[in-house]
Amino acid sequence: MAAPPGDNQRPRVGLLYDERMCAHTTPDGEIHPECPERIRSIWKKLESEGIPQRCIILDAKMAEDKHIAYVHSAKHIKLIKSISSKEFDSRRQRIASKFNSIYLNKGSSEAAYLAAGSVIEVSEKVAKGDINSGIAIVRPPGHHAEPDEAMGFCLFNNVAIAANFLLNEKPELGIKKILIVDWDVHHGNGTQKMFYDDPRVLFFSVHRFDYGSFYPSGDDGAYFMIGEGPGAGYNINIPWEHGQCGDSDYVAAWDHILIPVAKAYNPDIILVSAGFDAAIDDPLGGCCVTPYGYSLLLEKLMPFAQGKIVMALEGGYNLNSIANSVLSCAKILLHEEVVGSSRSPAFESTWDIIKAVRHELKGYWPALNIKLPQSLLASRGRPRPPEVTYSSSESEVEMDKGINTAENVEDGKFAEDLILPLSKLDLDEDCNGIIASSKLQIEGHSSQCESCHDPQTLIPSDIIASSFTWRSSLSKIEVWYASYGSNMWKPRFLCYIEGGKVSVNFCTANNY
Ligand SMILES: [Zn+2]
Repeated sequence: MAAPPGDNQRPRVGLLYDERMCAHTTPDGEIHPECPERIRSIWKKLESEGIPQRCIILDAKMAEDKHIAYVHSAKHIKLIKSISSKEFDSRRQRIASKFNSIYLNKGSSEAAYLAAGSVIEVSEKVAKGDINSGIAIVRPPGHHAEPDEAMGFCLFNNVAIAANFLLNEKPELGIKKILIVDWDVHHGNGTQKMFYDDPRVLFFSVHRFDYGSFYPSGDDGAYFMIGEGPGAGYNINIPWEHGQCGDSDYVAAWDHILIPVAKAYNPDIILVSAGFDAAIDDPLGGCCVTPYGYSLLLEKLMPFAQGKIVMALEGGYNLNSIANSVLSCAKILLHEEVVGSSRSPAFESTWDIIKAVRHELKGYWPALNIKLPQSLLASRGRPRPPEVTYSSSESEVEMDKGINTAENVEDGKFAEDLILPLSKLDLDEDCNGIIASSKLQIEGHSSQCESCHDPQTLIPSDIIASSFTWRSSLSKIEVWYASYGSNMWKPRFLCYIEGGKVSVNFCTANNY
């Protein structure tokens, strides 16, 4: 890349952050991955690198009801507007529990209005040309929020509201076609629903799908969900079949689906639903995209829409990963260099998915009808990682025994006792970081694998013995285990409590 431009040539990149969005937090201080520290850590990182001084700082704004009403029902708006008022004090938690993966507190209403309004603000400034591009560091996130329902940590669908604002409220800005790129590890079910029959918005989501079992689960994120009516062909899903997808998998999806389609679509602006939970070390995503990988994905979008790109934060739950990833993206928008490399090949399953998506959409996008180069397909890519499942019978036994339950463990002591020894574990890269123990079954993984250690040498026996304790204790913590239970397998669980060490080993092969 060329030398960084001087002040006169530097692109005008908008940056929006407002501490008031930190007021949305769990009502009783419970630990939760979607926490205020997420945006604080991003802002702190950007400040430490002098990014705000190189950007245009924008003020947060509250969204107006009439703008939110383009995508949400009056009933939903009324609920989110009033949920933080005193009259809901006694009922707030009961209402939140009726939704899927939602908490609410006194700060939720204001934060939700600020998140939506701020994405509108950055989008309008970019559309007008006041700034070239922009980043809205907002929470709560939005892409799971459906027309009449908050879900998946999302209250209002910030990006969908901003897209509708540009299309319907500001026709004079000339935004007629919007490309929404959703690279959050979860499918953007809410956004898909809101534009499913609307060709003015091309919605592209790449996400873990795991055959419909990954959150938000069901068929919505499948590759055959391509839009309907006039919107047919304008909804593109890239559903990963498993975790551990990294830079190469994402770049392959970009090169062989998103970029050729974007060329044909020729959007007037690009809104990125920028979740960073596919990032390496994320406790929920189980994928391996590096900060450098995100910079590549963003850089590939820069030639479109005259570089009019708006990034709006969605998920991402490892504080270091999201901070470093946003930093990389900010540098790309500023035309600064991001150093890194990605060498490991894409998964074999990635090529299968890419072929399936291209086949499904080739009638709408002729560029997808061209055969993939034989040289690409010949290598076939990496084999899929082994699956790991719990032995349900053993889980039942441990619960039946009633020993070492959370009641017997003081929270602080429990965390210390657990995290310290686990952080010293040396996990086996060739087993993809999976700790093999009598409590786990590894499917499709030969016990003859020479590089695999004996499980007993891998884990100290006292840790194995106390596994009952930590598993039951962690499930006791009222976090997201209940709603994410089906997505929770042991390595990711360990990653969460250990601060990401396990998934570092997951992704060693990426050589990032
Ligand atoms: Zn997510």
